[in-house]
Amino acid sequence: MTKKVYVVGHKNPDTDSICSAIVFARLLEKLKDQGLFLDKDYEIVPCAQGKPNPETEFVLERFNVEPPKDYDQDYDLLALVDHSDLTQAPDDLDGSKLLAVVDHHKIGDVTTPGPILFVSMPLGSTGTVLKLLYDLFNVSIDREEAGLMLASILSDTVVFRSATTTDLDKEIAKDLAKIANIDDIEAFGIEMKKKLSDVSGLSAREIILRDFKDFDMSGHKVGIGQVELVDLSDIEPRIDELLEELRTLKQDQGYHTIVLLLTDIIKQGSLALVVSDDESIFEKAFGKSLEDNRVWLDGVMSRKKQVVPPLQKAFEKL
Ligand code: MG
Ligand code: MG
Ligand code: MG
Repeated sequence: MTKKVYVVGHKNPDTDSICSAIVFARLLEKLKDQGLFLDKDYEIVPCAQGKPNPETEFVLERFNVEPPKDYDQDYDLLALVDHSDLTQAPDDLDGSKLLAVVDHHKIGDVTTPGPILFVSMPLGSTGTVLKLLYDLFNVSIDREEAGLMLASILSDTVVFRSATTTDLDKEIAKDLAKIANIDDIEAFGIEMKKKLSDVSGLSAREIILRDFKDFDMSGHKVGIGQVELVDLSDIEPRIDELLEELRTLKQDQGYHTIVLLLTDIIKQGSLALVVSDDESIFEKAFGKSLEDNRVWLDGVMSRKKQVVPPLQKAFEKL
C-alpha cells in the first residue's frame, strides 16, 4: 500500500512556502530514487495551508506548475518547509511523523523523538537552501524547479532589498535564472511584487491576514502582518479602515499586540500600524514613538530579522 508524505509550508503561505513545498517534494522524490530518506512505497505530495496569493499564482502560471493540494490529514509522514514554529505548522502536527524540516528562520519549537533531516540556514529564502541541497546531493535542476526557487528568493528578499539578503542569495539567483530562462532578474522580481501590491480588491481583513504570523512573546500573543507595496501611497487612504480592523481582530482573538507592516519596497522602509495593550513595548523596541498608532521605520523591510527580534526582546524585559 502506498504511504504518503506531505510537504507543507507555513499558514498564510507566501511564495517561498508554496514554491519550496513543490520543489522539496520533487527533490525528495529524486533522493528517494537514490535510496535516501524514504522507502520506495512513499508518494510525495506538496501541500499548502491556504490559497496561493496573487504573486504566487503569477509565478506558478509563469512556470506552468500546478498549485499544491490543500492540506488535510491524510498523510503518514510530514515534511515542513519555511518554518519550524508550532504556531505556523499544521495544528495536528505530531513530531513522530516528521520526516524533514528545511527552513531559513529562527529554530522554532517542533521536537522529534528521533533524528530527522533538518536543514536550516540563515539565508534569504528556503528556496536558496533547497538549491544548496540539490548541489549537495548532486541532483540536477530542471527549468520549473529553477524558476520556483528563483521566485522564492526574489519574493522573500523583496528583490534583494531586504536585510535578509546575502551574497549567496544573489549568486544562486543568477545561476537559477539561467536555468529558468529569465534574462532580467530585477524586472521579473518587480513584476512579481506588483501582483502583491494591488490590494484594491481586498477587504481590510484580507489585507491584514494575507501574510500574517502569530508569535508567542514571553507568554503574550502577538500577531504581525506585512503588506509589500510598490508604492505606499496606494494604501494610505485605507489606513484608518485598517486600524479599525486591527482593533477588531485584536479584540476577537485575544492578541496583546497586533502590528501591520506596510512596506514600501521602493522607499525601503515600513509604516508600522500598531494596536497594543501596552504601546510602550513597541516604542521601546524601536526607540520611536507611535502617533495615532503608526510610525515610519526607515530601512525596515524584514519582519523576521528587523521586527520580531527587537519586539521579542522588549517583551522579555517586561
Ligand atoms: Mg515564508
Ligand atoms: Mg521564507
Ligand atoms: Mg515572507
